[in-house]
Amino acid sequence: MPQQLDPLPDDWERALAVVAHPDDLEYGCAAAVAAWTDAGREVTYLMVTRGEAGIDTLDPARAARVREREQRDSAAVVGVTAVEFLDHPDGVVEYGTALRRDIAAAIRRHRPELLITLNPEDTWGGTYWNTPDHRAVGRAVLDAAGDAGNRWIFPDTEAKPWNGVRWVAVAGSDAPTHAVDVTGTLERGVQSLTRHRAYIEALTGEDPETYARNLLEGFARETAERFADRLAVPFRLYRR
Ligand SMILES: [Zn+2]
Repeated sequence: MPQQLDPLPDDWERALAVVAHPDDLEYGCAAAVAAWTDAGREVTYLMVTRGEAGIDTLDPARAARVREREQRDSAAVVGVTAVEFLDHPDGVVEYGTALRRDIAAAIRRHRPELLITLNPEDTWGGTYWNTPDHRAVGRAVLDAAGDAGNRWIFPDTEAKPWNGVRWVAVAGSDAPTHAVDVTGTLERGVQSLTRHRAYIEALTGEDPETYARNLLEGFARETAERFADRLAVPFRLYRR
């Protein structure tokens, strides 16, 4: 029997999800976000880019507008109304102090106990090479959790230091430790991903809703094998 996953802690009130692109949270995470917002928790999305280099058939200026709209729609489906954009350039996000500072400033503004981000490793499951943006942003989020609490690091941000981040939960990890039951919210996760219609239509000939449902149900069923047969979204949890 594969190693079982623990339930993700739920004694928190505010989460901040920081990812590189519109759609990063919808490939799995969004169903968990719906479960949290249903339970009265506050979740904010912070996109490091507008995903403007993500659609081959649309020039970046137009793609940025389309993808921002799709991201706001898909967030609303899972109960998230606060969606912010840092406007780093899509595809060439640089890991470094500028990125850490922007993320630390957002953590100080929103004061989350839980940070969410996407796999910062070199690969997806050892099979597919990860993108430079995902690596840069994931690592910067893990680092900024500490930066935000240290008043001597980035002392000039508008908001005061916040040392209250207790966990960073990484989605899409090869080595998950925890999971969130999404039995009641998986369908909203599917609807949330389907909102990235222009992006998915450029990616595949499949109907966007069918594509989203097959993919997300497949992921959730795989995780159920390690979570007492409950449909679930896995995370690797780092404690602070
Ligand atoms: Zn991405």
